Amino acid sequence: MTAASAQPNRVLQGRTAAPGFAAGRIVRLEREPGSGAAAARAVGTPDEEAAALKAALAAASADLAGLIGGLDDAEAAAMLEFQLAMLEDDALTEPVFAALAEGLGAEAAFAAQLDAEIAGYRASDDDYFRARGSDLEDLKARVLAHLAGAAGAAGALADDAILVGRDLAPSRFLEIDWRPGQGIALAEGSLTSHVAILARARGIPMLVGVAGIDAPEGTEALLDAEAGTLHLAPDAADRAAFDIRRSAGRDRDRAAGAQAFEPAATACGTPVQVLLNIGGPGDLAGLDPALCDGIGLVRTEFLFHGRGGDDLPGEDEQFEAYRAILAWADGRPVTIRTLDAGGDKPIPGYTLDGEANPFLGLRGVRLSLAREAVFRIQLRALLRAAAHGPLKIMIPMVAVPAEMAAVQALVDREAAALAAAGTPPGRFELGMMVEVPAAALTLDLFAADFVSIGSNDLIQYLMAAGRDSAAVAALADPLAPAVLRVIETVARDAAARGLPVSLCGDAGGDPAAIPHLLAAGLRALSMGAAAVPRAKAAIRATHLTGIRP
Ligand code: PEP
Ligand code: MG
Repeated sequence: MTAASAQPNRVLQGRTAAPGFAAGRIVRLEREPGSGAAAARAVGTPDEEAAALKAALAAASADLAGLIGGLDDAEAAAMLEFQLAMLEDDALTEPVFAALAEGLGAEAAFAAQLDAEIAGYRASDDDYFRARGSDLEDLKARVLAHLAGAAGAAGALADDAILVGRDLAPSRFLEIDWRPGQGIALAEGSLTSHVAILARARGIPMLVGVAGIDAPEGTEALLDAEAGTLHLAPDAADRAAFDIRRSAGRDRDRAAGAQAFEPAATACGTPVQVLLNIGGPGDLAGLDPALCDGIGLVRTEFLFHGRGGDDLPGEDEQFEAYRAILAWADGRPVTIRTLDAGGDKPIPGYTLDGEANPFLGLRGVRLSLAREAVFRIQLRALLRAAAHGPLKIMIPMVAVPAEMAAVQALVDREAAALAAAGTPPGRFELGMMVEVPAAALTLDLFAADFVSIGSNDLIQYLMAAGRDSAAVAALADPLAPAVLRVIETVARDAAARGLPVSLCGDAGGDPAAIPHLLAAGLRALSMGAAAVPRAKAAIRATHLTGIRP
């Protein structure tokens, strides 16, 4: 009897990061960097070690460049570009080559250098730098795998692999040739991590926060990322029950997919607008605009990634990007959010370094108003783009009315300057995100043409539960009574003033949350494109009478 077949039949519980089903066998994501690598290769002469390291660095660079080339996701590309830049940085590799000249093996020298760098990043108070520590872990594992001649294995998972481990680096996810039927279960991870976003976008079922996944390689498993369970060593009855749930899920998905391009309305006939959230124009590649009623959120940070200091995007570059999105939308409204830097979206060289708590610091509109020259460039680009389609300019992280008044004054000034130059802006609306509780509770005091609830941040500030913290993820619940009451308050206050209101946080595309959001009074939800078919199905299944918010 093998270790795998000796496993007890048991069900582990996790949280669904990407929905779906997978039945197969456990593949362990053992990625202890360097484990076995040093032993696998005898240390050669200093010249041989230097040659081996050079070859491994070149191979790792080629891997990363290849991965970046195949991506249409600006955020994932920025993360990999950071790794590539580190690899090409002599300050990182020179001390390693110096150690090789002293007789050290390539694995040991490279690992020691990276460990020292990683420790520095990990010790930072800044979330951004701590995240870069994970990227360096990822890079270290890649170079060591090349040294050991073991790179590339990640590309060839068995068709029924359920990849299991502590956490999964986004670059590792990106290099796996994912196929339908595979799945992921992680002991750590969070719903808002980059790898979770990637898994949702590619339709790979994924659970995070699964305690006790110690089952060995080859253990038979059933991943039900609808119920949030990983069933280890199931028996015939478990498999039969799983098959029934999976085929019901497939039927639901097929039906949802068939109606994805139809407008959405509740079972009682109330129309609901379904809008898209995008992180950049790449998210629209190959998408038919008929899928949506417009774009509810463009996160313009994509233009600023890796562009701090003197390299910030200019007015023309921004204008072209905004115009391209309006052209795609083909007359549907497009909501473009001004730069929301800071917190979980740092831009080195632009956001403040060393803030004790960047989520409560100079971020969003606060930073834009503090860096007025940069903000005015973005406003001008937006006002020029407004001539090319129905544009809604949205301001993030607004807490007090004075911020919207200051933005309005800048907008008026830039619009007047454009008009004086003979290029008056087209028609546009100026609205605000409601993601700070102070704004949610005093909507009547603000001047805005529309509002959109940013539930990701609203929940974290209401529940005092960081959006990237796996340990408190259970508290960050969109269905918590406090959250739903505040959403209901915003929807009611907006309706009382005749202000259009939508919601553009992750909850907007979550079929479990949708009935409650509709019951709270919302009639416009914005979400990633991959979420649209199921979200529309959830809207169609909702009877508004009978749901209590
Ligand atoms: C939000 O906070 O809900 C939101 C949509 O903005 P972001 O996730 O970009 O902070
Ligand atoms: Mg936000």
